[in-house]
Amino acid sequence: MKIVQKKICLLGDFSVGKTSLIRRYVEERFDESYLSTIGVHMSRKRLERADHFLDFFIWDLIGGEDFTKIGQNYLLGAAGALIVCDLTRPDSVPKLAYYAEQMRAVNETAVLIFIGNKVDLTIDRAVTDHHLRLALATLADSFLLTSAKTGENVNEAFTQLADALEED
Ligand code: GDP
Ligand code: MG
Repeated sequence: MKIVQKKICLLGDFSVGKTSLIRRYVEERFDESYLSTIGVHMSRKRLERADHFLDFFIWDLIGGEDFTKIGQNYLLGAAGALIVCDLTRPDSVPKLAYYAEQMRAVNETAVLIFIGNKVDLTIDRAVTDHHLRLALATLADSFLLTSAKTGENVNEAFTQLADALEED
């Protein structure tokens, strides 16, 4: 069967849950411990599509990243990105537009999926759907609320990206 390969990136502020989302999706587990190292990590996930395999090469900036320095190389060749904010941290929301701009500067047609993560933390939630819609404005009509902890909507996020990448 044919194999299609796509590079995708996780983008978003420090500590919003990028690494946890990848871990949940790729390894189907969640790790409470907070690992902070420097550099880039890549994982592969094979999706069975109708008549081919889609190999996602998922790039992650490890904690301590300086995106302003590493940005261009990190994004080069990416077909799409999941851009993540933390629903308990309003300061992570305006960064969505910044990362979208960075991705689009490297690849004009990159598929962007916007995510509000940590939806399981209902009591601490400080970002409403309305906030998100305002922040996204013209960037996107929709977003997904996920939890790397419970797994809620994690597969859906990556599948939406796959579907959008393989449209038409
Ligand atoms: P990154 O810097 O964006 O890669 O964020 P991490 O994946 O390292 O997560 C930062 C912290 O948030 C860690 O302590 C995670 O355990 C925690 N975390 C990540 N996602 C979730 C989630 O969906 N729910 C909860 N409750 N905690 C999360
Ligand atoms: Mg990380």
